[in-house]
Amino acid sequence: MKPHDVLMPSEGMDVVADLIAGRLPLHRLWLEPDPDAWLAQWAPALRAVASNGHQFPIDPAFMRRLPHLEIVASFGVGYEHIDAKWAGEHGIVVTHTPGVLDDEVADIAMALTLMAVRRLPQAERFLRAGEWPKSSFPLTASLGGRTMGILGLGRIGKAIALRAESFGLDIVYHGRHAQPGVPYRFYPSLAEMAKACDILMVAAPGGPETRRLVDAEVLRGLGPDGVLINIARGTLVDEQALIEALRTGAILAAGLDVYENEPNVPAELIALDNAVLLPHVGSASVKTRRAMAQCVVDNLVAWSEGKPPLTPVPETPWRGSWGID
Ligand code: NAP
Repeated sequence: MKPHDVLMPSEGMDVVADLIAGRLPLHRLWLEPDPDAWLAQWAPALRAVASNGHQFPIDPAFMRRLPHLEIVASFGVGYEHIDAKWAGEHGIVVTHTPGVLDDEVADIAMALTLMAVRRLPQAERFLRAGEWPKSSFPLTASLGGRTMGILGLGRIGKAIALRAESFGLDIVYHGRHAQPGVPYRFYPSLAEMAKACDILMVAAPGGPETRRLVDAEVLRGLGPDGVLINIARGTLVDEQALIEALRTGAILAAGLDVYENEPNVPAELIALDNAVLLPHVGSASVKTRRAMAQCVVDNLVAWSEGKPPLTPVPETPWRGSWGID
């Protein structure tokens, strides 16, 4: 084991492993015949982990096995699968890939909004099924002139707001804090914002703090003309309450890119005609995924050269040097 070897615990996108391996020695744990025995032998010497996908939790139990761990470089902007608070308390820097995916995800957010409001997937299915010669596709709701409430006006939320404004939507937002200099109305209460908007756009991080923030009460507030769009994490929405709201017409429609238990989507949701469902493709273009992978590599290379991390998460600010001793 050399000082700048990197461990990747689980398989994810090839581009991430390939780009890292082009710069630093990389160990792919899932390829080891006995990963646990491999960790027992080598973990004490390892100082860097690359997290490539959310299925492998980087929790205290795992991090304790690497007593000299200095950096966890994660692929993606959301990092709820990593206990960043624990890492910060133990001198470990966690990095993620913010910024490079905002436009891509915001584009998908607007696409889902249009698809859900104007029933575009249903209209396409109608044509392909040979229904057009028999009758016209039913009229739909409109997008323009309505109000979009953004839950989580961060990097991605702001990119969505910019696009939504140009579609003629009014923007309001909810978060833990009002943001100075932001031209949109702030709602300290999510339930109150849901009552005041037509399209509820979910763009806040996942994790225990935001679990099921969008519950039956919020959906009731959105009302029978309301549309829920979620491009953040499935855990932010009470999926059973959403299925019930769509089934009973308590809300008009939903557009979802993310789910509580990916890649498993409840059969009840799939059966609903007023749900537009995408398989977590928000950032999934070749260009953007490569830029995200490059961000992981850049953080690891900075670490290997003793330089500051480029994009640490807020829980693990740079303390001026590497090393936990
Ligand atoms: P960000 O810049 O950190 O913005 C997050 C926003 O959420 C902030 O405005 C924050 O405002 C708000 N927020 C945080 N905790 C909250 C809470 N407990 N209650 C209400 N609001 C809260 O993050 P980002 O880069 O925009 O990314 C947002 C999320 O999008 C990521 O965490 C990720 O899960 C998801 N994402 C999905 C895809 C996809 O493929 N579908 C791709 C990329 C990212 P306050 O601090 O004022 O609360």
